[in-house]
Amino acid sequence: MKNKADIIRQAFLGIILVFVMIISYLHIHSGPAYPSIHAICPFGGIENLWAWLAGRANLQKLFTGTMTLFFFVLFFSLLFGRTFCGYICPFGALQEFFGKISKKKFSIPKKADKYLRLLKYIILVFAAFMAWITVSIWISPYDPYVAFAHIWSGGELFKENGIGFVILIVVISLSVFIPRFFCRYLCPTGALYGIISKLSPFRVKREACADCGQCSKDCPMDVAVDKLSTVSTAECISCGKCIGVCPSKNNALSMSLFGKKIKPLVFSIAAIIIFFGSITVLDVFGYMQVTVPTIENIEQSGDYLKIPDLRGSMTIEQGAVYAGMALTEFYKVMNIPETVPKDTLLKNVRTYVPGYDFHLEKSKH
Ligand code: SF4
Ligand code: SF4
Repeated sequence: MKNKADIIRQAFLGIILVFVMIISYLHIHSGPAYPSIHAICPFGGIENLWAWLAGRANLQKLFTGTMTLFFFVLFFSLLFGRTFCGYICPFGALQEFFGKISKKKFSIPKKADKYLRLLKYIILVFAAFMAWITVSIWISPYDPYVAFAHIWSGGELFKENGIGFVILIVVISLSVFIPRFFCRYLCPTGALYGIISKLSPFRVKREACADCGQCSKDCPMDVAVDKLSTVSTAECISCGKCIGVCPSKNNALSMSLFGKKIKPLVFSIAAIIIFFGSITVLDVFGYMQVTVPTIENIEQSGDYLKIPDLRGSMTIEQGAVYAGMALTEFYKVMNIPETVPKDTLLKNVRTYVPGYDFHLEKSKH
């Protein structure tokens, strides 16, 4: 029964990972009708927070739905701890699946581990600060998750996310031997949810234990479960693995929510249903907008986009329609020679016109 919970958890992580890969592929190859990885990553909410509080336009690539997702995951973490990391996050899933390649695991010496774990908090503060002062998704070129979502973009990946791709290779390779390496040491999103999880009524509890230490050995976040009576650390991702591997017949380890014991299987299913159920409800009420409106909607409403709101994933032809301009006028306004084919993505115009900077052109308007 205990392991069923972990099977369900991992199955969902796998489904979400595949879903995100498909969405990323469609965004890159079929355009802005599909959300970008930035729009559906809650970290975008932290980057956009300053602009949102000041009532300014959302940062490029971010939408109202990104803010909804950010606030919802904060609330979810307040209730269920870092359950988003253990059950939902595709990048956590990727590391977990790569971790299955080798049974051999290394642990970082305790003292170094302690200081390395602080890195993610420093990255959180720095990345948020840089996003706020540059009014852009500053971390994007260095973000391994963004690089992962752009593996479908061929050579473009190395132009825009080269550094992120190198970091991705390093992080994923290390995850094979050090479980969830990125989650433990580098992830700013996990850092924020970890802080919030300190207030959560969710806890793993230990009692009547045989001190075999198996729980700590199998914990992907290297929490010393066998030394604690209540796991309240910001590192715990609520995955329940420790409970699943505990050989005790007396249920030495248990999950508790609001002081009441809850079976890991029930928790797994409930967490997943509550998360996706809430997202669906928010979507139905129109709070999850993470893409630009369709061309049909734009044409029907006559509510054309301003040039700064155009996206690099639109073709020149789509850009003209979204901006409500004739194609020839759009070429002129965007400073694009008419020799560039109209089905070229705006972000790729530079492959025909060396030095062309789509973002710079937008900023002139
Ligand atoms: S720590 Fe970051 S990468 Fe890891 S699961 Fe959480 S949000 Fe995802
Ligand atoms: S302490 Fe248990 S629930 Fe928390 S991360 Fe480790 S294995 Fe998962």
